[in-house]
Amino acid sequence: MSVLSDRHFHDEAAAYKFVEARIWPNGPTCPHCGGFERISKMEGKSTRIGAYKCYQCRKPFTVKIGTIFEASHVKLNHWLQAIFLIASSKKGISSNQLHRTLGVTLKTAWFISHRIREAMRDGKLGPLGGEGQIVEADETYFGSREEKRTTRTSGQPFIKKGKSGPSNKRAVLGLIERGGNVRTFHVAQATKINVVSLVTDNVVRESTLYTDESRLYTGMGDHFAAHDSVKHSAGEYVRGVVHSNTIESYFSIFKRGMRGTYQHCAEKHLHRYLAEFDFRHNARVALGVNDEARAGRILDGVVGKRLTYETTKAR
Ligand SMILES: [Zn+2]
Repeated sequence: MSVLSDRHFHDEAAAYKFVEARIWPNGPTCPHCGGFERISKMEGKSTRIGAYKCYQCRKPFTVKIGTIFEASHVKLNHWLQAIFLIASSKKGISSNQLHRTLGVTLKTAWFISHRIREAMRDGKLGPLGGEGQIVEADETYFGSREEKRTTRTSGQPFIKKGKSGPSNKRAVLGLIERGGNVRTFHVAQATKINVVSLVTDNVVRESTLYTDESRLYTGMGDHFAAHDSVKHSAGEYVRGVVHSNTIESYFSIFKRGMRGTYQHCAEKHLHRYLAEFDFRHNARVALGVNDEARAGRILDGVVGKRLTYETTKAR
């Protein structure tokens, strides 16, 4: 497979070749009918770059169809450049930076970056943890909620007291395997029901779970090999191997990155920013993933993740 280079960022035909090799390792496949035997490349001056015709269903197609690249006027070489920029940045790339670097409009830059985040969303990752593995769970609160709660949440929902309490903040649940992957979720409310179902759905039963003393996690021992917690309210943050420092430092990286690079983010897009930071952690240098391999992983995620202007519109 060819190496992603400057050429792919400036030459549209080269960009097509690169993406085709990645998405169609066994040759062009018709996205309409799934056929791959009677396909020919469309040639000629008036033909679009990367156009093929399927003689099974008689429809034309390009590698963009069925991917995040579909139905956009953005050139594929610009997409590749944007993917590489996002893959190789430690803190993310703002739409403004993308707009200046690629020479596309701000609106287009914003659209591109959200689609790329969508490609970073990993639906294929298996659950975290395993026998002998430690997983930490914790929640954090970030940014104000756009819809204020109208109902009292007395009873089950967990509400911290104090002026910076989370009742009007966006709740994020984070799960991290020590030395492994992270996965975060934006939840409407960090209730016991939400938290238990996310934790048990995403962490292997044989794992050991560490949390703080929040009552969101009481009883977790029933679902895992072991559950232990530190008591932050009593000033206890670490007791031997028992702590939730890994997930807490991950949250602070996320918050710092959001404040530094993205400033404002609408609540309905928060899950995509979380996906971006999760992706970066899960494809980090310490695991032997370099910039190019990281860009390759994004490309592997472009299929089947169409996102229309409608769903990304408006901040
Ligand atoms: Zn076909």
